[in-house]
Amino acid sequence: MENRWRDADAASFADDLLQLRVYTSRLLGQDPDLVLHGGGNTSVKITQENFFGETESLLYVKGSGWDLATIEAPGFPAVKMDTLLKMARLEHLSDTDMVRLQRSAMIDPGAPNPSVEAILHALIPFRFVDHTHADAVVTLSNTPHGEQLLRELYGERMLIFPYVMPGFILAKDVHQRTRDIDWSQYDGIILLHHGVFTFADEAKISYAHMIDIVAKAEAFIEEQGAALSPGETIEALSGEQDLLTLASIRHRVSCIRSQASLCRLAQDPLSQLFAQQKNLSRIASQGPLTPDHVIRTKRIPALLDPDPVAAIDKFTSEYEYYFEKNKSEGQTCLNPAPCWAVWPGIGTLKFGGSSKELGIIDDINQHTLKSILQAEKLGGWCALPEKDIFELEYWELEQAKLKKGAQGADLQGKIALVTGAASGIGKACVEALIAQGAVVAAVDIDPAIETRFATESVIGIRCDVTDTSDIHSALRRLVTNFGGLDILISNAGTFPSSARIEEMDEALWDKSMAINLTSHQRVLSACIPFLRQGMDPAVIFIASKNVPAPGVGASSYSVAKAGMTQLARIAALELAGDGIRVNTLHPDAVFDTAIWTDEVLEKRARHYGLSIKEYKTRNLLKTEICSSDVAELTCALAGPPFAKTTGAQIPIDGGNERVI
Ligand code: ZN
Repeated sequence: MENRWRDADAASFADDLLQLRVYTSRLLGQDPDLVLHGGGNTSVKITQENFFGETESLLYVKGSGWDLATIEAPGFPAVKMDTLLKMARLEHLSDTDMVRLQRSAMIDPGAPNPSVEAILHALIPFRFVDHTHADAVVTLSNTPHGEQLLRELYGERMLIFPYVMPGFILAKDVHQRTRDIDWSQYDGIILLHHGVFTFADEAKISYAHMIDIVAKAEAFIEEQGAALSPGETIEALSGEQDLLTLASIRHRVSCIRSQASLCRLAQDPLSQLFAQQKNLSRIASQGPLTPDHVIRTKRIPALLDPDPVAAIDKFTSEYEYYFEKNKSEGQTCLNPAPCWAVWPGIGTLKFGGSSKELGIIDDINQHTLKSILQAEKLGGWCALPEKDIFELEYWELEQAKLKKGAQGADLQGKIALVTGAASGIGKACVEALIAQGAVVAAVDIDPAIETRFATESVIGIRCDVTDTSDIHSALRRLVTNFGGLDILISNAGTFPSSARIEEMDEALWDKSMAINLTSHQRVLSACIPFLRQGMDPAVIFIASKNVPAPGVGASSYSVAKAGMTQLARIAALELAGDGIRVNTLHPDAVFDTAIWTDEVLEKRARHYGLSIKEYKTRNLLKTEICSSDVAELTCALAGPPFAKTTGAQIPIDGGNERVI
């Protein structure tokens, strides 16, 4: 645990208490061993004059929705201290009333809700208060003799309190326990199974207390020989059968959640080490590292042994039982699917509605796995009892946090593969898919594809679609990263130069057939087993107006595209029984692609005696067709608007007499 305080950095806002608060909050937030994804909170007490010239004592405390790593001054709503202290003296206070009272005592009604720990921050009689869920301290606490161990480690200068529910109940509990103490005797409070509070009148000292306390716990773990050594390396999952099992697990979880969801396989050294443990059924069934994590990860993972899909169903029925057993009146069961799973001997899986959610679960998971394995070496992992975890999981304020993050885009959680994705229609399709909530494997023969899309929702894969082994390895990356395949957009193509039939170069013809026709059959064939496990699976072929309305000199292109269209029609017949829809688009005159440079456009326009604008809009509707228009229609075909359509051919050409 490194002390990141730098006098030179802090000096620039030494007189500005709020900026100093921002500075050390960010120092805490930068260390994932202290806080993760919105966890932890900090505050500073400032006395200032209000509009009426009266002096007011205020608590600037972390606002909900802000993350310590990136927090700024507006992330600290100011709440009147006297109201918070009065609240601590109440006998009972519901969560909703607590939020309402805190809001009524804010000096800026537009600021975010204060942290649920605001009352506790107010009660601690020091200017700066820091709170984290430090891994090392919570790990020690989550062992059979955790409390005793912590008392021996920290001695007299630490208050150690048992776990109670965060929020008003915790504030009230600490209030009662600290009524008669001399606060100057202490450097901090450890809340068992939860985290650490430190405090001081100086930002630097409160922060340093936090670092020292955590460093001490880390050193102890190390001394006890509980630091982790790597396990045996497990081979990456590669067999098609394993990948199909993965896709069927993801399908089952999506069905239980009633929403397409992603699933990521983790086979990093820590996940592998964990998956190799002999006592998984005990250590994986205890509970999370700190109760705060439960809203992201649920209490425990599914254990995928021996039949992975049946294990998901078993988890679901056990979760429903857990809810029935612990529920209070008026509570509704959350979706009962697991948020993560351990696949014995293989690795771990995370489930989520978006790649961002997968990332959050993965981060929390890394810390949880490490903590569990360390605690096992310190006498055994024991998390909080089920009832306490349930209370937090079904806490109305925690539920509210999750609802804020809910997204409802049409293709949310869908997994797509787009070929020819580096430019033109393919690239536009990738952009439209991610805008609608899908994740995408964007494949192209151009190596630039690997970095073309700077988002965690896309994996760019260099792939020659005429090479079957390339297609399989792209699918392997897609399935291990996102869990399956719902949408195939078969778009890769080439536009050969014009030649009449008797003058056709054989190599040119063969190349067009290979790319514009055969590769589409190869890609579809490799994708079918995964599409069968997809959620409302759909295939869209990007063909051409040349199919219904061919032109002179374009036989190598038009014949291949006509073959592709016939392939799509047969696929629609063959795959309907599996619920897979197959439709074809016939775009025309899409000029915002790489082949249509200004120079080429001008030449073609001149050839017809037209201006560029007239040339671009040579259709019945006199409209210009862009890659993004084709992409929007492609997404519609993949989504609910065309859920009951298969085998269709749809022009997107602005209207053409020969086609009509
Ligand atoms: Zn906390």
